[in-house]
Amino acid sequence: MTIETINPYNQEIIKTFTPLTTAQINEKLDLAVSAFKDYRLTSLEFRGETLLKTAEILEKNQEEYARLMTLEMGKPIKQALAEISKCALVCRFYAEKAEEFLTPKYIETDASKSFVTYQPLGAILAVMPWNFPFWQVFRFLCPTLMAGNVGLLKHASNVPQCALAIESILLSAGFPKGVFQSLLIESPQVEGVLRDSRVKAVTLTGSELAGKSVASIAGQELKKSVLELGGSDPFIVLEDANIEEAVEVAVTARMLNNGQTCIAAKRFILQDSIAPKFEQLLVEKYQKIVMGDPFNPNTDLGPLATPAILRDITNQVNKSVEMGAKVLIGGKSVEGKGNFYPPTILTDIPVNSPAMTEEFFGPVALLFRVKDLQGSIELANSTIFGLGASIWTNNEENIKIAIRDIEVGALFINSLVKSDPRLPFGGTKSSGYGRELSIEGMHEFVNIKTVWQK
Ligand code: NAP
Repeated sequence: MTIETINPYNQEIIKTFTPLTTAQINEKLDLAVSAFKDYRLTSLEFRGETLLKTAEILEKNQEEYARLMTLEMGKPIKQALAEISKCALVCRFYAEKAEEFLTPKYIETDASKSFVTYQPLGAILAVMPWNFPFWQVFRFLCPTLMAGNVGLLKHASNVPQCALAIESILLSAGFPKGVFQSLLIESPQVEGVLRDSRVKAVTLTGSELAGKSVASIAGQELKKSVLELGGSDPFIVLEDANIEEAVEVAVTARMLNNGQTCIAAKRFILQDSIAPKFEQLLVEKYQKIVMGDPFNPNTDLGPLATPAILRDITNQVNKSVEMGAKVLIGGKSVEGKGNFYPPTILTDIPVNSPAMTEEFFGPVALLFRVKDLQGSIELANSTIFGLGASIWTNNEENIKIAIRDIEVGALFINSLVKSDPRLPFGGTKSSGYGRELSIEGMHEFVNIKTVWQK
């Protein structure tokens, strides 16, 4: 993909960037190595203070960064502003918690002293997606830099200005030159960077295809990898749930970020007895969604980030409908220049249709009906994905069974699935492996070194 900013609202090309040459990449990798030599020896206090300064800069220029995200990938401006606040929150979280998370762990053995210590690895490569252009990067960089590593960012090709802004924020905050660099490179250039011995590990957030490619290269090079991939999260509603509340939250859970969220609720699995009511209320709410200019604060649903995403979701809906799915609302392309797809609800979804098996990265809710809890869990587990799940029930026995049997990295009960710096985040099955956030996220990119003294 060409590295450029194209406004998804009107297809206007705003700015084009030339990818780095091999020689330029080389210079940046050298800089990363030399920066690491000194940075690994800096105190946690220095790193924490610099991260707190980063939070201040984010908040001071919140509007500017939010507008940049909306311009490059079309998220509604009010959500972009919230994303910047969340980045400041994760900076403060790790500035405060790093010491606790990195404190050596003393363990009694036959040694006079034995303990586990957590040491940085060096330059960590982050391959990141466009859907949360700031948040995805900050949730990587905060624990990674606090642990004493240096970061290299290969951001998605459609958000280059966000990538450059993040590098500049960290420099202004006082992180030494080379501690965090954005590499404006295309995806075929990732292999060379990852194979380079100056790069020690990799994390990728994105599609299954990209994940497989990066993980196999990392495997050949015996480098640690963390993968945060796609999802088709179930949102299960049982008959003893608060249906009105579930519907209210369902709309947000599906529509946030124009429907382009890995942990969006994508499959709504409804117990037969409450399905008609849920469907009717959901359609009513969908009719009220305001689609339009993402810079307008009243907009709920902006354009999809790229024409390719619009094409994919259009094809997935059309194919599912050809196979027998019914459209309750939406389902038709929108005239005009922007990458708009309307709020859509599909029901009567046939087995083996894209709506049954694939991730839908757009504002399309997929409705299913089941007889009971057991049926809902079987359906929930029937895809290759295992990122998050939400279940709505007030029955403790149901909750126990759901916790035991739903195959996901995170289960939320009577809530939508969300990320929180205090809790580990990640998936199972084809949604990836490894964790971000919390202490688990910080321990992904450290050498867990055992020390034994006679
Ligand atoms: P994508 O095409 O995989 O792109 C993600 C990143 O990987 C971009 O920087 C992209 O660069 C790069 N990339 C693509 N192919 C690559 C390859 N073969 N080798 C190395 N790098 C490669 O993903 P997307 O479609 O933009 O993002 C949406 C997907 O991300 C969805 O499946 C979503 O669920 C998932 N996601 C997961 C999480 C999570 O935490 N689990 C969070 C957000 C999104 P270019 O832009 O230059 O191609």
